[in-house]
Amino acid sequence: MEKFPEPLEALIKEFNKLPSIGRKTAERLVLYLLSQDAQETQLLSQALLDVKSKIRPCKICFNYTEAEECEICKDVRRDGSTVCVVGQPQELLKLEKTNEYQGLYHVLGGLISPVNGIGPEHLHIDELMRRLEAGKVREVILALDPKVDGEFTAMYLARKIKPLGIKTTQLAQGVPIGRDLEFADEVTLSRAVQGRTNL
Ligand SMILES: [Zn+2]
Repeated sequence: MEKFPEPLEALIKEFNKLPSIGRKTAERLVLYLLSQDAQETQLLSQALLDVKSKIRPCKICFNYTEAEECEICKDVRRDGSTVCVVGQPQELLKLEKTNEYQGLYHVLGGLISPVNGIGPEHLHIDELMRRLEAGKVREVILALDPKVDGEFTAMYLARKIKPLGIKTTQLAQGVPIGRDLEFADEVTLSRAVQGRTNL
């Protein structure tokens, strides 16, 4: 037998498409699922469907939400004069856990990456500029990965924001060079928020 029966192969193929899941890991996961109760697999498939049908991007900041606007944008206690720009929603979540930041966010949906063919037009940059042009924001904090694409995106944004006369700062001390923001610990991120520098 060179291959598993077709339904098994089909599911293995789907898992194999996921990031950092190779063929061996995909096989292990699928065979594990097969050994579970039908109820367990039902819960998993329902959760997968729910994510696609119930979650959408916040129409203001592009954070994940179940409603039109996310909980952060709706919260009147938050400081609307500061917007922190992140690449992905998981980085926003990480910053929230520090309890250091009380302003609003803007999720770009990635970083400018000429090598991967990702230009500013593929990200939520126009929407960010429209928010800033509305006139309420006094400071933009760029919390982008301290690697090539993040640096490039930060410089691009700083240049674009400058004519608006809005203070632009960048997370600085503490975020280890070359590390993903998502994996930085909370104390480190906390310090980075406090020690941000002007751009
Ligand atoms: Zn939002």
